[in-house]
Order: sequence, then structure tokens, then C-alpha cells
Amino acid sequence: MSKQVKVALIGNPNTGKTSVFNALTGLNQKVGNYPGITVDKKEGVCKLSRGVKAYILDLPGTYSLNASSADENVVIELLLNKNDKDFPDVAVVVSDVENLKRNLLLFTQIKDLKIPSILVINMSDLMSRKGISLNIPILEEKLCTKVALLSTRKNTGIENLKTLIENYRTLPKAQCLDATSIDSDYFERLGKAFPNQDLYKLWLVITQDVNFRSVARNELDFTNFQTKTAPELKRLQQKEAIKRYQFINGILNEAQVIDQSKAKDLRSKLDRVLTHKIWGYLIFFTILLIIFQAIYDWATIPMDLIDNTFATLAEWIKNTYPNGGKITDLFAEGIVSGIGGVVIFIPQIAFLFLFISILEESGYMSRVVFLMDRIMRRFGISGKSVVPLISGTACAIPAVMATRNIENWKERLITILVTPFMTCSARLPVYLIIITLVIPNGNFMGISYQALTLMLLYLIGFGMAIFSAFVLDKVMKIQRKTYFVVEMPSYKLPLLKNVFITVVEKTKTFVLEAGKIILAISIILWVMASYGPGEKFNNAEKIVMAENNNISDTALEDKITSYQLEHSYIGIVGKTIEPIIKPLGYDWKIGIGLVASFAAREVFVGTLATIYSVGSASENESIETIKIKMSNERYENGNKVFTFASGISLLLFYAFAMQCMSTLAIVKRETKSWKWPLIQLFGMTTIAYLFAFISFQLLK
Ligand code: GDP
Ligand code: MG
Repeated sequence: MSKQVKVALIGNPNTGKTSVFNALTGLNQKVGNYPGITVDKKEGVCKLSRGVKAYILDLPGTYSLNASSADENVVIELLLNKNDKDFPDVAVVVSDVENLKRNLLLFTQIKDLKIPSILVINMSDLMSRKGISLNIPILEEKLCTKVALLSTRKNTGIENLKTLIENYRTLPKAQCLDATSIDSDYFERLGKAFPNQDLYKLWLVITQDVNFRSVARNELDFTNFQTKTAPELKRLQQKEAIKRYQFINGILNEAQVIDQSKAKDLRSKLDRVLTHKIWGYLIFFTILLIIFQAIYDWATIPMDLIDNTFATLAEWIKNTYPNGGKITDLFAEGIVSGIGGVVIFIPQIAFLFLFISILEESGYMSRVVFLMDRIMRRFGISGKSVVPLISGTACAIPAVMATRNIENWKERLITILVTPFMTCSARLPVYLIIITLVIPNGNFMGISYQALTLMLLYLIGFGMAIFSAFVLDKVMKIQRKTYFVVEMPSYKLPLLKNVFITVVEKTKTFVLEAGKIILAISIILWVMASYGPGEKFNNAEKIVMAENNNISDTALEDKITSYQLEHSYIGIVGKTIEPIIKPLGYDWKIGIGLVASFAAREVFVGTLATIYSVGSASENESIETIKIKMSNERYENGNKVFTFASGISLLLFYAFAMQCMSTLAIVKRETKSWKWPLIQLFGMTTIAYLFAFISFQLLK
């Protein structure tokens, strides 16, 4: 059997761990100049000489072994558990040459766990420009380690690192400082109580907030050990950090020289402008405007293409297998259109992440986070919530995923809960058709009423998100730590390859995560719409034919489809909820649309097309035809169904309601419980109902 070495890449966010990983393994993981890019563990293989293989594990960034966010837990959980199959033979601690002091804190902690460690100092290409020089032998001696100075960008030093990994058995095992001196008595007692355990590991288990105590719970029993009170432990932890920094400062004074005249460069000038109280916001909003323009303008081209392709495909299936009956229908209407409903979002998501990753890669996003934090903090969320909220305008799913680098659980949860209020692209088709139906043509200061309404809807969504964050912050009884760390990475020119990888990764996650659920729900809804109980559904053809003479074949077919839908299971649900939605100004036909669009909001338009029996008309025509049919739709007493009042009510309903199974599913995954998605579903639907109710009653 060939020999293997298990290697874990550990380090502060943004030091280049993933770049080192890629350099070692030749794999293409996404990298980014923004904290929190790597959120799950990633594995790869690196061939060393003489048949030795290294299994490389890329871990999320962590500032220290005192966990404060979900991604940091991953690292500590692994390092505390010697039985974990991924437990490393050697820890490669990646630091970057510009932030050695902060990086070394984590390094000294890992040394205390007595894991053989190599210190990688990455980004050495920046040294001459920043006027930094290092004395590597002194660093190696004082830190009891081997140092690999490298640059993944210039591809230097990688071979040296491989050699060090291969010879990991010769690495010095000693700790580099003695942290137990912060309270010798206490640690002595601890050592006596658990003679077989590593002291520093015990200390970490005791001081960690909660979660991963389970790691050690089976082996460690603290019931008989009198530990300290929480405030006492906190104070000790602070003492520990101070001690470590003193130690690190001492070393850096000896081993590092920084030429100050070079350090003050473009960066501080740029920082001053980009985080400026006025210019900062102005620049940010200009950039946002450009992004929106791109998402809505450019993305429509591929989206139309996708739309047509899937329509053609469905048509093709129907024509090729005309005798397939329900199976043909299942494929043509259920599965193909379900997949189409997923794929249609890809252009917008790809564009959004193209921009976000350029902003992240360049280092600008961290300035935005810093800038927006001043405002966001008042509403119970953090500057880091800005990225998810903005992403929410494309789709809530990647947005919810983007909350992972918010350290504070409460802030993260609030961001997850309010993000779906942002106007996502799936609401657009619904908005557009209703707006053209009930908002009159005309201008206000050169802007059409219809455009104005659309803009208002975006604002309402954003306003509601911020407002609910504020309320949730007040009512939720979750402790919040008050400190705020934001990385200020140096500015870099984005690498095309990195940007590309991010876009592909994010899009893939969306397709795989949300795709499954959207497809499943599409099929369920298709079944509900294609089957029905009793006579009326099964004999639709005969009944409709008997009632309608003298109409064309297509019209007859449309009438039959519409009649079947009315008596299908979904039709029954629509009719059952009619009493509940009547006060909002909706009839049972809209009710069916509401139920059907629970899978994804944009389904609403298609469902109405079927129910108003305009199914067979071609794509563009059918939108026009639905509009005409909708505006002619009347109650039995002759009143119009779609009036200004019911239109506004419907718009508000769609603005606030949680009409999206996929978002619920992703929230369940991110919060690891059904509690929060259910609260979200119930809460948002209630708000939507109230707003729709009030607006309809006032306007009718
Ligand atoms: P991680 O968060 O630790 O995984 O770091 P990444 O690998 O995502 O890299 C963070 C940023 O540093 C990215 O913008 C990289 O392009 C950049 N970077 C990585 N290695 C180097 C390097 O050797 N030199 C320079 N100048 N930049 C680098
Ligand atoms: Mg990474």
C-alpha cells in the first residue's frame, strides 16, 4: 500500500488557503477576496514523491480556535476530535504576509494542540511592493516550526511546501509558548482531574460556547470537576489572547521589518474614498444601479432563449409520442417544464454572482460591508447582511446561502428570515401582467405609472425586509455578541479564472439544491392538476362537447382543458379556499393560481393561461390573450374580477407572501430545523393577507 499523509489547510479567512489547495491538488475550487467563501470542507489529492500521497483538506477560514460562526465550528470540531477520519497528520497553517500578527494567533493555538504544523506565509509576491522583509530562520526557531514562504499567484514555493509535508514526521512537536501560565493552579488541577488528556484541548472544550461539546462529551465528564464561572472563564480567555499577542509581537519585532514609507500606499487613499460618508454610498449605489441594469437587461436574452427551447422541447415530446397519454403529458408538462423552471433562473443567478465575485475578488465588498454596517446595525442585522439582501433581488435561494459568513447567529437568522421579502425575479412576471392590467397608462414627470408601480413594489419589499428585521431584533430573545470583525483585504485585480469558478459553483449549487425541490413540486402540482375525482373530471370531454356546439376545434380543446382544471384536485383546492380569499377580492380561479404558484411564483401566469383556456395559443399571443380574458372576466353579478382594487391587493399579496417552496427548503437546510421556515411561511403569509385585505377593502 502506498503511504498517505492527511493534511488540513487551516488559516484566517482570505489568506489564500483555497489558492494553496488548488496549487497543491490542481483542482479548481473557487477562491475569493472576501471572508467566508469556503464554507464546507473540500478534499483533494496531492502526489508527493516516491508514491506518497497527501490528502488535502481545505477548511473554512477561522480567526482563532474560539468559535464564533458556523464555519469556524467546522474547523474546531475537527481539530478536537482525534477519532475523526479527517483528523490531520499535519496542519498546514496558511497566513498572508501582510497580516502575520493576526494570523499567528491561530497558529500558536494549533501548536498548543500538539498537532505537527507547518507555517505557510503566502502572498510573498507582495513583499517588495509593501516593503516587508522577514527573517525566516528566526521565525522557524521561535515558533518551533518549519516555514514555507510562497506565492500562489507567482507559483513559487509550492515544491518546498510539498517537501515539508512529505517530511512531516521531522517537524518539531513542542509548543511555542506556555499558555497555562495564565492560571497555573487551575491548569494543574485540570491536568490532575484528566491525566490522559491534552490540557489545551480540555481548555478549549470548557471555554467553547456550546455546540461541539458533544465531540468530547463521551470521553470527558466534567461533573466532578469544579470549573469556573462564565465571567471568570471569559477573563481568562482574554488573558490568554493578550499573552499570545505579547509573544507574537516579540517575535515579529525581531523577525519582521516593514518599510513604512511603502506601506502607506494607494490602499489607504482608496479606503478613504470608498468608505467615505457620502462618496462611499454614492459609489456603492452607482455600482448597484449598473448591476441591476445588467441583470434585467442582459439576462433577458438567454432567458428568452431558454424559455423557447423548453417550450419547443415540450411540444416535440407531445408530437413525437402522441399516444403516450398521461406519460407523455407527465414528461412534456410536468418534468420538462419543471426543469425549465429551474434552468430559466440560471442567467440571472450567473450574472449576479459574476458581479458579486468581481466585487469580492477586488476587495471592494469588504469596504461595502464596513460602510453599510453603520446603517444595518440599527435594524438588528449587520453590514454582512447587505450581500444576501442584494442577492435576494435575483433569487432568495443563493441569498440565504450567502448568509453563512455572518458570525452572529441572531443576525444571520434575522437576515435569513427577512431576505425573501426582497423582490426576487420570480415575482416579475406576476407583477408585470397585473400591472399592465390594472395600472393605467400615463406619465408622472416623464416616468410611466406602470414603471413607477414596479419601482414602488421593489421599495416596499426592501422596506418590509428592513422593518421586519428591526421587529425581529426586538422580539427575539437570542443573545448577541457585540463585537464586529470585518476583514479589510488589500485591493487586488480580480483573476478571471477565480471569478469564473465562483459563478459556476454558485450556479451549480442553485441548480442542485433548489432544482430538486422545484422539480418535485412541479410534478406534484402537475398530478394535482391532471387528476380529479368523479364524473366531471373524467367525462370533461363529453360534457363540454354537449354544452358547446359550433365552436372551433382549438377553442373546444381549450374549453375542455379549462373544464378539467376546474374539476381537478387543484381546482377543488382553489374552490375550497375561495371563502378565505374572497375578502381579498379573488375568485376561485385566482385561488387555483395562488395554490399552483406556491411552487414558484411565476407559475401563476401559466396557470391563469390554462384556466382562461388560452393554452393552445403561441407564447406571445397567449400573454396578450390572457390579458384580454382577464380584463373581461366578470363575476355572476356582472362586476369585473380584475379591478384596480383586486389588482393592487394581488400585487401586495405577491410582494409579501412566502410563495416559494424552494426558499423554505433552503431555509430548513441552513437553520437545520423546520421551526424557522414554518415561522417564515406563517408570518409572511399573514402579513401578505393583511395587506391584501386592507388594500382591497379600502380601494373597492
Ligand atoms: P481563502 O479564503 O483563505 O481560501 O483564500 P483564497 O484562496 O480564496 O484567496 C483570497 C484572495 O487572495 C484571492 O483574491 C486570491 O486571488 C488572493 N491570493 C491568493 N494567493 C495569493 C498570492 O500568492 N498573492 C497574491 N497577491 N494574492 C493571492
Ligand atoms: Mg477558501
